[in-house]
Amino acid sequence: MSRPVVTPATATHPAAVTAAPNAMTENRKPEIEVARCTGCGRCVAACPGRLLTLEVVAYRKHAVLVKPRECDGCLACLTACPVRAIS
Ligand code: SF4
Ligand code: SF4
Repeated sequence: MSRPVVTPATATHPAAVTAAPNAMTENRKPEIEVARCTGCGRCVAACPGRLLTLEVVAYRKHAVLVKPRECDGCLACLTACPVRAIS
């Protein structure tokens, strides 16, 4: 049984190890765990399509995927998140 190839771009998050190789074919969309999100904005900056934004709800900032249909599942946002709020 072969082990999954871990590249530097996907090595920071366990989910990325298995998700990244099939990301384009599965068209996987990121899911943001709002309670964990700190609103740092790194995922917003990392998205090549500018599909994420920060929203403020009850004085708390968190990331939102505003254009899910345009997301190609590259998972750059997932690897950019320092607190693993994206899966
Ligand atoms: S998976 Fe890629 S295209 Fe989709 S929101 Fe994240 S960074 Fe943007
Ligand atoms: S990178 Fe993570 S913690 Fe920062 S805004 Fe995005 S989801 Fe939230």
